[in-house]
Amino acid sequence: MQGGERKFLRQSVIAFNRRHRAVLGHNIRTYEEAVARGKKRHARYGEFRDYAARVKEGALGSLADHLEEFERRITARGARVYWARTAEQVLEIAGELLTRNQARLVVKSKSMITEETGFNEEAPLWNCEVVETDLGEFIVQTAGEKPYHILTPAMHKSKEDVAQLFREKFGTAAEATPAEIAAFVRRHLRRKFAEAHAGITGANFIVADIGGIGLTENEGNGLMTVSTPDLHIVIAGIERVIPEVRDLPFFFQWVALHGTGQQVSAYNTLLMGPRASGEKDGPREMVVILLDNGRSRLLAQGEEQAALRCIRCGACLNACPIYRNVGGYTYGSVYTGPVGSVITPFYEGFRAYGHLSYACTVCGRCSEVCPVKIPLHELLLLNRQQMHQITGGSPLWNGGMKAYRYLFARRSRLDRTGGRTKNRLMTLLPSPAGKGKKMPRFANRSFSAQWKTLNN
Ligand code: SF4
Repeated sequence: MQGGERKFLRQSVIAFNRRHRAVLGHNIRTYEEAVARGKKRHARYGEFRDYAARVKEGALGSLADHLEEFERRITARGARVYWARTAEQVLEIAGELLTRNQARLVVKSKSMITEETGFNEEAPLWNCEVVETDLGEFIVQTAGEKPYHILTPAMHKSKEDVAQLFREKFGTAAEATPAEIAAFVRRHLRRKFAEAHAGITGANFIVADIGGIGLTENEGNGLMTVSTPDLHIVIAGIERVIPEVRDLPFFFQWVALHGTGQQVSAYNTLLMGPRASGEKDGPREMVVILLDNGRSRLLAQGEEQAALRCIRCGACLNACPIYRNVGGYTYGSVYTGPVGSVITPFYEGFRAYGHLSYACTVCGRCSEVCPVKIPLHELLLLNRQQMHQITGGSPLWNGGMKAYRYLFARRSRLDRTGGRTKNRLMTLLPSPAGKGKKMPRFANRSFSAQWKTLNN
């Protein structure tokens, strides 16, 4: 058993923490109800879902062409584009830009890709203070934690937890309401936006035909991040392409529907380059860093490349019975839940993260809710195959499966020992159901023996 797998199993005991379950359950249910209400607005939901999957699939089919077209068009308007093969290269490029611009204060809108690159951990080396400006990200940053969920970073916290945290860190009232906390954060961040030297964002969509970056959000912090500082750095995964701008309004709505149940998020922005002459705001310098970091490896796989269609709505996490029990931190990866378990081994290696493919009951709920029709549970099975080819499987597991195959091949072998012996043997082995759960007991006489007696 590798270290990552051991850590996963150790941390998964959080599933027995009633408070954690209650907070997570409540927050996920709130999202689920909103999404279910939102879906009722779409009489032709199935057709839209097919369309979304088709557009993303088409984009991946000619990914290199679309990315080059994007680069050509946005550079024509004054932005610069860098191509980074690894997370380290992103940090090198960003570090050099921030140092050259003497950027001491950096505001950042919500972006999982900056988590993937370890941007915040590296920033002190460039003498940069990084301030998260999305409310959920700001909460976890204040708590010294990592995002818990790809869409709702503070999903594991109740409003009481947040009030307590803010009382400790900022001296706000112990009984502060969510509205009061939001107002406090807004005032706090206003100053940071005004003073920031650089803004960092991800990209919800890279729009190829016009050379644009699509951002969708609810707090306006993304828009502020790109409006006031002189330097704007976009860090985007190469898979975030949509070929044509005519599909952008649809995809903005599609993310909002599956993330929060909204018709559309409050702020939807298309960024086309740095401030042009005559414009009053916007960055003087705009740089887009396109990150691969294993995505090409995933693209080169047959069926598994479907995972690159993901629009990061978070629906599969909310639907997953494993995620709902063990929560986000147990995965030990940036991307969690079903989609995280599929892509992380390609981004970070199978030896370190291949075990996540087994954090799945194969119930298929994730695939059912995915708005771009990624067959996540099937991809997890393919990952298991790869994991087995790479590691050869654990000797304990392989030995157990051989014994299972031998015993179950003939009923007479199973019936050779009675229930009492079988139950005694089971106490010698670690429970296959895991710690804290009991396996059902064998009956003293086997089913076939009881059947024979009944029918004689
Ligand atoms: S895999 Fe599908 S359901 Fe999961 S986050 Fe991505 S788009 Fe949403």
